[in-house]
Amino acid sequence: MIKCQKCGWEISWGRNVKFCPNCGAPIPAPTISSGIRVAAFIILLILCISVTAIGASIKIEVSEARSLSHEVESLENAVRSIGFQAIFGNNFMHALIMFAPIVGPIWGFSVLYNTGKVIAAISIVNELDPRLNMLVLFFFPFTWMEYISYALAISESIFLTYSIIKRNFREEFTTASKLVVLCSIILLIAALIEFYVISLLESSLKI
Ligand SMILES: [Zn+2]
Repeated sequence: MIKCQKCGWEISWGRNVKFCPNCGAPIPAPTISSGIRVAAFIILLILCISVTAIGASIKIEVSEARSLSHEVESLENAVRSIGFQAIFGNNFMHALIMFAPIVGPIWGFSVLYNTGKVIAAISIVNELDPRLNMLVLFFFPFTWMEYISYALAISESIFLTYSIIKRNFREEFTTASKLVVLCSIILLIAALIEFYVISLLESSLKI
């Protein structure tokens, strides 16, 4: 139920009313509560990690593992020559698409499933346990920061889709814009940390 702020008339939630049927005062469109936003974010964070874990635990052929790890090597070379901007650019591009209404969750889950497959591929090539490899990744803050950004983006995509149905897109778009800025900051810091960790690991391996 929503109450008219002027006369207190009660209007049921499902109805898309713009004006109070009793006194004619404008009724603000129903907003998504912060409780629902937090709950959606937590559920999506769990889902994002689970989808990666599923990708990592699926058995792949050694030949596919080799070609997948070659792809990672070319990405690593890009990081080496361009710097942290390559990590940020790649992650932020994916996050932006995850914000898109309707397609966001599909894109997000397929990207994260493939991330899991890449983890499996690297593990197979290096004869390591993929589950252990994935666990190690979550010891680093940048992994959490990236997954937090993706969960924020996918949950916002769902709210944007909902707002289009409820014809309340403009207000939700403001929220989405703020979240895009927040994600860009989180992903930028994450990329800097990740680049620093990679350089540390590489220099220690050379010695
Ligand atoms: Zn009223």
